[in-house]
Amino acid sequence: MPKVHVLPDYLANQIAAGEVIERPASVVKELIENSIDADAKNIIVIVENAGIDKISVTDDGTGLEKDDLLTCLKRHATSKISATEDLFNILSLGFRGEALPSIASISRFKITSRTKDDDSAWAVETEGAKDFNLKPASHKIGTTIQVSDLFFNTPARRKFLKSARAEQSAIQDMVTKTAIANPMISFKLIADGKEKINFFGSQSETLEDYLPRLGQLLGKDFVKNSVAVEGSLDNMQIFGFTTLPTFNLGLGTKQFMFVNGRPVKDRLMLAALKQAYHDRMARNRYPICVLFIDVPPKSIDVNVHPAKAEIRFKNNRDVFSLIHNSVKKVLDSHSRDTTQKATDDAVAYFKPEASGQLGGFGVSNYSTGGVKEVRSANIAMGKSSFEFQQKIELPPEARTAEQEKILSSVENNAEYPLGAAVAQVHNTYIVAQTADGMILLDQHAAHERIVYEKMKSQILGSQAETQNLLIPEIIELNEFDMGVILERNEDLAKFGLDIEQFGETAIAVRSTPALLGIKSVKPMVLDLVEELKAYGNITSLTTKIEHVLATMACHGSIRAGRTMTVEDMNALLRQVEETDNTAQCNHGRPTYVKLSKTDLEKLFYR
Ligand code: ADP
Ligand code: MG
Repeated sequence: MPKVHVLPDYLANQIAAGEVIERPASVVKELIENSIDADAKNIIVIVENAGIDKISVTDDGTGLEKDDLLTCLKRHATSKISATEDLFNILSLGFRGEALPSIASISRFKITSRTKDDDSAWAVETEGAKDFNLKPASHKIGTTIQVSDLFFNTPARRKFLKSARAEQSAIQDMVTKTAIANPMISFKLIADGKEKINFFGSQSETLEDYLPRLGQLLGKDFVKNSVAVEGSLDNMQIFGFTTLPTFNLGLGTKQFMFVNGRPVKDRLMLAALKQAYHDRMARNRYPICVLFIDVPPKSIDVNVHPAKAEIRFKNNRDVFSLIHNSVKKVLDSHSRDTTQKATDDAVAYFKPEASGQLGGFGVSNYSTGGVKEVRSANIAMGKSSFEFQQKIELPPEARTAEQEKILSSVENNAEYPLGAAVAQVHNTYIVAQTADGMILLDQHAAHERIVYEKMKSQILGSQAETQNLLIPEIIELNEFDMGVILERNEDLAKFGLDIEQFGETAIAVRSTPALLGIKSVKPMVLDLVEELKAYGNITSLTTKIEHVLATMACHGSIRAGRTMTVEDMNALLRQVEETDNTAQCNHGRPTYVKLSKTDLEKLFYR
């Protein structure tokens, strides 16, 4: 074995760069965070060829003195902490002293700076951080860092980069995301000579000051469909925006959270958010949000991830409560606006009969009549009060007909494995009676699986059937999202989804997969874009196809909340029996629960 030796600095820095600098957007992140830490009011980012050829960040912050220009390129050189206890009281974005030496070790690097006390500026240049060349320069107060030919001496790293379009998109997202947390700072991004971002700094940091940039990152629809979150717990505060439950995505890619201004991805925080939407949103749907959490610096540990994307909280439970309770509170207050009327109507509907039939339902006498009442009430929930009146005045014969249907359903279907439909609960679950017990089936999850399996076999067969739209649907997309989906349009055409570019900022959808019978094309396409972004270059083609199919299937399926007739329900049960893999939905959850008579007895007699 060769002798043990200490690595030269440039090599140690290249190793550190492996963790800190994954792609050009990571360089942009580190440099603009440094500018923010230096109290800059204006930050200009210029990139060429998606940052691979050139990244330059100019700020009007405090600047660096001549001596510091060389020091800041040394390993573990920082002005932000100096003692162990500082590590647990981080007030700045940076503190590891790794970014500049890492970046310098894998690029042609130049830093030019001037402080307010200097008459002129100084610059340091280096190629791969082996030699450093300090010389006088010209610059106003502040700093410019230029990074050229990123990864020029680590070509293997360069190979891991995605398409220029994807890298550029990552840069743009990064600048926007960072800008969102800093409304009082102006940000400009110029890519290949074109101005991509131009945010003016606001005078204050009220909730309204955050909105323009949020609109830019998440679209105008986000601003229209979101509600303001505000809350506090002990010495922690939360504020931000989150969407109403009806405005959601198939992936959690647009949930942005910041702790003390630092963008973080934290499972606990995401779980708290999800929990707040529990009951209001299908479990496979995700709200869009931007939430800022401010906590005492001493209550978090930010030194747990090289790119500082994760943090550790001293008191997990309080953070969870803060997010969960604050989001839930605002959703509660808004849900009342829209659904209180339906609830009142339903209660009114129950009242006249409450002492009679319904009283019997909850006890041991499980009559189909009682089940029917519950079902009718659920049907009624979604309708206007005008229709209620009609419902209440239904002649007795009509009720009997409904009852008849259920009885004959039982007669004709009881021997099937999934039995006979007898009721629908909350317009979401089908209750079926089987020879030796009962089934509770999630109508959406089950149907989604059926559609998905059918699409899969059609596509393996070759070309899926398409359904032409009478009028092509035009969908506005930003440049990058458009690129993401157009890059895949051949694959999508195979699935029966025909998409083409429509002008500078939109796509036209000409046909959709016939199997889906989709009426609202736009939400599906927007979900697909997110899906492709998330899985785009990582997964194999088959997994990719499966993800895309799953997304489409979800949109083409019977929704939770749709009222179904007894016949429809029985038809669905039969389809579930005939299709492979239907015991679980595309997300791995069970599609139905089976309770045998013994199970039921156990439930009640134990
Ligand atoms: P860290 O940010 O973790 O301290 P960096 O390697 O990113 O480490 O930067 C090293 C030091 O260089 C910083 O601590 C700071 O003092 C100085 N510095 C970097 N960028 C700037 C800038 N834009 N303006 C002023 N000082 C800067
Ligand atoms: Mg830094």
